[in-house]
Amino acid sequence: MYLRTNFFSLEKIQMVDLKAQYRRIKADVDQAIQEVIDTTTFINGPAVHDFQKDLEKYLGVKHVIPCANGTDALQIAMMALGFKPGDEIITASFTYVATAEVIALLGLKPVLVDVDPLTFNIDPDALERAITDKTVAIVPVHLFGQCADMDRIMEIANKHNIHVIEDTAQAIGAEYTSKDGSIKKAGTIGTIGATSFFPSKNLGCYGDGGALFTNDDVLAERVRMIANHGQKVRYYHDEIGVNSRLDSIQAAILRVKLRELDNYAAARRQLADAYDAAFAPTGKVIVPVRAINSTHVFHQYTLQANGIDRDKMKEFLESKGVPAMIYYPVPLHMQKAYLDPRYKAGDFPVTEKLCATVISLPMHTEMQDDQRALIIASVLEFLHSN
Ligand SMILES: *Cc1c(COP(=O)(O)O)cnc(C)c1O
Repeated sequence: MYLRTNFFSLEKIQMVDLKAQYRRIKADVDQAIQEVIDTTTFINGPAVHDFQKDLEKYLGVKHVIPCANGTDALQIAMMALGFKPGDEIITASFTYVATAEVIALLGLKPVLVDVDPLTFNIDPDALERAITDKTVAIVPVHLFGQCADMDRIMEIANKHNIHVIEDTAQAIGAEYTSKDGSIKKAGTIGTIGATSFFPSKNLGCYGDGGALFTNDDVLAERVRMIANHGQKVRYYHDEIGVNSRLDSIQAAILRVKLRELDNYAAARRQLADAYDAAFAPTGKVIVPVRAINSTHVFHQYTLQANGIDRDKMKEFLESKGVPAMIYYPVPLHMQKAYLDPRYKAGDFPVTEKLCATVISLPMHTEMQDDQRALIIASVLEFLHSN
């Protein structure tokens, strides 16, 4: 096989290549932005409403409520469900900090549980053991692009009469097949779903954005009210709320990109397949395990080092012009801001091992063949010599 070795002839490899993606949809995006400017409908304009309707249709959910970012979406969900200080919310110890942050900010008590070593998602057995009479909700995070074990999670939640807030910031578009055969999109299975449109997410805008999804009419109305200063009628404030809106320009961009979302997922999956085929036979890394019940939209392609030095591998790849990232280097219970006498090193062995062994490779919708070849050749070069 002829492999181009002069990597200066390649376009620089990015973890996420938003520039190349923009080039392909530039005409539509530019026009959508221009329309918002021409009509000066910057806040709550028709673009927001149209995007909301398009996303409701795509997800097969009754209500999408756009907001300012994914962290707000989680916070608004917890406010709308009326949780009180001291209430306990269970989430995974291996996740992005936003999940635990809003729980703590609202004076609620984050209860952490370990994750499954293969899917990286919350371990349902550990979750059930963590339930007390103060537990009001579970926040499963559909990490890296595939759904947590929602059949088990919903069973546990229903049994104990508690809410499920799906953090679907990394898995928008992933599909979950339940035991009864029904297929639902990530974020539409629990009480409510929260997502982010941060630029590097699978459906990303050109700034900040987020949304909540629910099939519950009453809850949707509360969410809308809380996101809008706690008012249903302007200047009549029934509750303490927040100001959290999706800008019209961002909604206009998202509307264009939503049409591409399934194609984007297919491109990511194709790249993941090529990585799997190249790396699995080496035995020196564990390739991402795909859950049985969920499709994978590969927000991240994350390997686990198996007897090799992860940090050395990252350094080596970077020396070859191949970026790599560690999501996430520190478990939540070891983060300075979240240190808690309830938890100590060793409490979440799977999470702690993952933080020491995971490494994520470039994953996006625009990977060129020669870039992919360089990434694979560089990883293999390291694995074969270590
Ligand atoms: C990105 C992300 C968030 C937060 O979204 P923002 O829009 O950055 O506030 C929350 N949870 C997870 C799992 C994320 O990946």
